[in-house]
Amino acid sequence: MRHTSRRFPIIASGFSGKRVLLAGGLLAATAGGIAAYRFFNNGQPDTAVSRLRFTPILLESSEKLTHDVKRLRFKLDADKRLGFNVSSAVLFRVRHAEGKTEWRPYTPVSAESQKGWFEIIVKRYDKGLVSPAMHALRPGDEVEVWGPLPFLEYCPGSFSEVGLIAGGSGITPCLQLTRSILENPEDPTKVTLLFANKTAGDIILKNELDGLAAKYPDKFAVHYILNSAPDEWQGLAGNVDRTVVERVMPPPAPATFIGVCGPPAMVAAVSGDRPGPITQGKIGGVLKELGYTNVFKF
Ligand SMILES: Cc1cc2nc3c(=O)[nH]c(=O)nc-3n(C[C@H](O)[C@H](O)[C@H](O)COP(=O)(O)OP(=O)(O)OC[C@H]3O[C@@H](n4cnc5c(N)ncnc54)[C@H](O)[C@@H]3O)c2cc1C
Repeated sequence: MRHTSRRFPIIASGFSGKRVLLAGGLLAATAGGIAAYRFFNNGQPDTAVSRLRFTPILLESSEKLTHDVKRLRFKLDADKRLGFNVSSAVLFRVRHAEGKTEWRPYTPVSAESQKGWFEIIVKRYDKGLVSPAMHALRPGDEVEVWGPLPFLEYCPGSFSEVGLIAGGSGITPCLQLTRSILENPEDPTKVTLLFANKTAGDIILKNELDGLAAKYPDKFAVHYILNSAPDEWQGLAGNVDRTVVERVMPPPAPATFIGVCGPPAMVAAVSGDRPGPITQGKIGGVLKELGYTNVFKF
């Protein structure tokens, strides 16, 4: 598994002086041009999303999962898949009544290979510019998509254990990675998911997650932890702290990878501050204390 910032090969040159500069400049420009062309012209004949333009797509169905979360399914041509690699997000652009457009990234949770449709899960922020508009979509309504936007390149089998710590709607990249590992019979990686929520009613897709744990008992385990647990709650309670991580996550080892996604306060306490959306920051918090070294903040 690696971050998707690609490095260009260093090209040795026998020339000197201005010619070297000129040749170097031309090579750099050509390499940059090829890399830029490849990045933007990412589409394959069977993919629907492109980085060359925003592509219009229609909502097929919308399902309320909790009081503030919906699952949205978008329609594709029967022979087309969305077109992304794990892990990636896609930009969604909505047009408001006054004509102004806004976009935000969302993480597909359907399989990479799924043709004919794809799904995302959207949490609604009442004062948000995009998530309320996404929740208001009705079947047949149009949005535009751009991408994909890769943030971690997963290579099957690169780790023996993957531990994922998700908070609330931070489940989406964890689910994308989990599905890709479980549904690939060639990938022997074991996945452990720790899913933190405020209340039992906030747990998104519990049935699906429990279904995956039942279907892949040797490859997948899921643990739920609630901030406010009712008396009858059988799972973990409280915050994701050192004791909980030690209890359920795979132990630190060179072949163990830990991914974290959730509210900034949880991410900071578990894995250290994340300075910005495209910077990881240092490993900190509970994971540093316990000695984990392969940590990614989604
Ligand atoms: C790579 C990536 C992938 C993402 N994938 C998903 C996904 O799969 N599903 C999903 O639901 N979201 C996802 N998000 C978040 C999403 O892109 C938007 O940021 C989110 O929907 C809020 O957008 P908005 O326009 O409604 O709110 P904004 O207009 O951006 O914000 C308005 C107000 O909403 C509140 N708010 C917004 N975001 C948060 C937050 N995270 N925590 C607390 N308060 C907040 C704040 O009060 C803020 O002032 C992802 C973000 C990134 C960077």
